[in-house]
Amino acid sequence: MWRLLRPDALLVWENEEVRERLSHYYAVMRGDRPAKYLVVKRVEVEYDPRASFEELMKMHDEASKEFREIYEGVVEGSVKLEDLKRPERSFLDLKIELAKRMVSPCALCERRCGVERLKGERGACGLDATVRVASAFLHMGEEAPLVPSGTIFFTGCSFKCVFCQNWDISTDPYNGVEVTPKDLAAIAVRLYAEGARNINYVGGNPDQQLHVIIESLRYMEISVPLLWNSNMYMTLEALKLLLDVIDIWLPDFKYGNDECALRLSKVPRYFEVVSRNHKIAHDNGDMIIRHLVLPNHLECCTKPVLRWIAENCPRALVNIMGQYRPEHIVARRPKDYPDIARRPTRDEMREAFDYARKLGICFEPVS
Ligand code: SF4
Repeated sequence: MWRLLRPDALLVWENEEVRERLSHYYAVMRGDRPAKYLVVKRVEVEYDPRASFEELMKMHDEASKEFREIYEGVVEGSVKLEDLKRPERSFLDLKIELAKRMVSPCALCERRCGVERLKGERGACGLDATVRVASAFLHMGEEAPLVPSGTIFFTGCSFKCVFCQNWDISTDPYNGVEVTPKDLAAIAVRLYAEGARNINYVGGNPDQQLHVIIESLRYMEISVPLLWNSNMYMTLEALKLLLDVIDIWLPDFKYGNDECALRLSKVPRYFEVVSRNHKIAHDNGDMIIRHLVLPNHLECCTKPVLRWIAENCPRALVNIMGQYRPEHIVARRPKDYPDIARRPTRDEMREAFDYARKLGICFEPVS
């Protein structure tokens, strides 16, 4: 396949520490090893599609162990992708079956609405089972190791952030073009052909679209790192489906406590759920965590989040972002949210950076 690659594209990052922390991502991007999902498609699993969800989940966990052994062989060079046959029923097929069940009644995120999305019902995210893409293009504004990033923006979100910078797509599930799994695969293949270093699933939020995203992998054969850019509020079961197919995680860690999360994103049990998912994803893959500094939230959010990362996700790179601006509901009703009705000051950003430095966090991946 013809593929455009900027000649300097692989030379932008010569920082040893970054390369070490993102070693799997770089190995896939450079073609030294296949993307995980290509091996997932080649692991045979015999299952009865009429089995219960619990039984299938148990088989999934067993298949995950087998996948990991095979992938280790691929990394070491004792197993070659081309020698692995496409089985009649694969680990990917099992994931697709499980994802379809999780969408109806819906248990994809920890809101666990339980609505029948396949029958057209909608939960807190506003989505039925159809998936819409608002835009898909080569994003040059992501973290340096990721650009150009083949970014696919989905509509709808499980959070209700009053300051959402993408509110036009996160609050309007119809703001996009409906896609089938095949359409989605074609979009990813096009982005790769245009020079994407990764396929970046984002929104809104991608967790609610997991059933279609996972099925789209059936129609792809490109070896490109898959990237999950999420609020990390998915259920443990949904996270398990992703662990063996995602090559690099790009999660948001916003709040250091549940009170701020409930007031500003209308989401319960934030810290418990999001920290659990960060830890599991970190222990299973490469990760760049994004933390958006909110004005007046250094003590309650920024510092606790950075402290937690330093203690629990020591391999993760952290992007401490200073681009917050009052948007969406905060812009319209600033008096209701006086604490975040302005941008963070330089002093606040400096304090956040100093704190991260003291904790020994690798927080400035961009050289
Ligand atoms: S994805 Fe989350 S918010 Fe949306 S319907 Fe399912 S459980 Fe509810």
